[in-house]
Amino acid sequence: MKKVDKIVEQKVPRLIPVRMLNEFAYCPRLCFIEWVQSEFRDSADTVEGRYYHRRVDTRKGRVSEEAFEAFHTSSVTLSGEEIGIVARIDILEGEKGKVVPVEYKRGAVPQVPENAYEPERVQLCAQGLLLRENSYVCEEGVLYFAGSRRRVVVPFDEELVARTRQLLVELRAMAEGCEIPPPLVDSPKCPRCSLVGVCLPDEVNVLKGKEVTVRRLYAGRDDYYPVYAVGYDLSVRSKGERVEISRDNTRVQSLPLREVSQLNIYGNAYVSLYSVKKMMRRGVPICYFSYGGWFEGITTGNVNKNVELRIMQFKAAFDSLVSLEFAKRFVSGKIRNSRTFVRRNDKDVSGKVLRQLSRLIKRVEEADNMEVLLGLEGAAAQLYFSRFSSMLKEDYGFSFEGRNRRPPMDPVNAVLSYVYGVLVKELFVTLLAVGFDPYLGFFHKPRYGRPALALDLMEEFRPIVADSVMLRLFNSGQMSEDDFSYSGLGVSLKSKAKKKLLSTFERRMSMEVKHPLFGYSVSYRRVLEVQARLLSRVLSGELEEYPAFCTR
Ligand code: SF4
Repeated sequence: MKKVDKIVEQKVPRLIPVRMLNEFAYCPRLCFIEWVQSEFRDSADTVEGRYYHRRVDTRKGRVSEEAFEAFHTSSVTLSGEEIGIVARIDILEGEKGKVVPVEYKRGAVPQVPENAYEPERVQLCAQGLLLRENSYVCEEGVLYFAGSRRRVVVPFDEELVARTRQLLVELRAMAEGCEIPPPLVDSPKCPRCSLVGVCLPDEVNVLKGKEVTVRRLYAGRDDYYPVYAVGYDLSVRSKGERVEISRDNTRVQSLPLREVSQLNIYGNAYVSLYSVKKMMRRGVPICYFSYGGWFEGITTGNVNKNVELRIMQFKAAFDSLVSLEFAKRFVSGKIRNSRTFVRRNDKDVSGKVLRQLSRLIKRVEEADNMEVLLGLEGAAAQLYFSRFSSMLKEDYGFSFEGRNRRPPMDPVNAVLSYVYGVLVKELFVTLLAVGFDPYLGFFHKPRYGRPALALDLMEEFRPIVADSVMLRLFNSGQMSEDDFSYSGLGVSLKSKAKKKLLSTFERRMSMEVKHPLFGYSVSYRRVLEVQARLLSRVLSGELEEYPAFCTR
């Protein structure tokens, strides 16, 4: 695939936070993602580490003399122009003209000859060099391991000083080069890394042709879920650590805030400003829909800071060749999944139809312009939808004559339009979280208010998520004529039908599938994020091709 030219000249700050030296020594890619791309995720280790540092920060002047001999002060911020770093030193001890930086570490003293790993030793040494530049005499530092309640003295000998200076030079060169370092290969460091779900080390290695076994290094599904407020006269409030939805002062739903991944409001609901701000701080987006299901907007906290990704996205979107390559991948992924969906659910499908779909996939892959691609996509959609009437069970009295919308003119089309709206919202939220602008796509062209990139990425998921939800609702007898209202030409879903649809959709999103490329089980919701991250890796030039998610 044609690469997107880099146009970002990274302006590396003069002063590097010393914590980044620790990350760089642990894994250069971790440092790049966290510092250059500004992506951060908490893990149990980072939360625990923060807890111990917070204790240091708040114990100013209260540290016992037995624990810290000749204690002087805590949380000292220093910078040095010559060495080019800035650091906050946990504790600074001093006696007879000499100072000793003390760094808090959670966990126990590691079983290695130096009693400390290299990332911690170089971080401490960099603090020592910083103190020297600020005219202090500093010959050693101390690592205090909270898990063992033990101090380990780290002498700043020539070898450690040289290694620290060398890593600082390499770190600066990496940031200036603006090229993400490759993932570690089969490293035991990855399972403990808080950014493993962002980095995707084994997945990227496999897609780059390395022979590695893909480990599932992060949870296959989330243990928090979207909440839906559907209907009139609802109010949403956060009370303590819970979110409550009520109508006429009667509680209709209450659940812990920590289990909420997003709040979706269909129609009008009252949400207090206090609750909005609390959700923003917790990273819970609030999505607004018209009562009919049209996605109208979103409230989020601070957006993803990876501006480089957005610049690359815009650059690619204005390059017709790059856009065409992405568009072909999205469309062929959609037709592949459509073919699988028909093969699985249409007992009467002929080999001829499946062969026609296979031929269309091939022609899509060979398409040399967007008009041809649009024509092929339309032909495949027509063939695919022509099989819907055969896939719907006759027992429940619903039929399908063809796709229509705005307004949908029959119950099946009404359900399809509604579920596509829910799916596009999922992709919108996912793309935003990964750092994209969801409004600028490669296949769908920009149009006012159209989330083009979310629609692009949705193509491969339409059959296997949205159409699958529709089929389940009708073929299990969950939908009846009483679930729809008719006005003029249009058909819409009644409130109870929307609730049934949303809960079937959520079940589908939580369902685990075997990943066709990586072999592990993963929920559809997590697959959406993996696909968005792989798309970002292609844009950054790390991966050659975008691999659409195609079930077998
Ligand atoms: S997951 Fe592994 S390769 Fe990726 S950043 Fe973390 S340690 Fe580095």
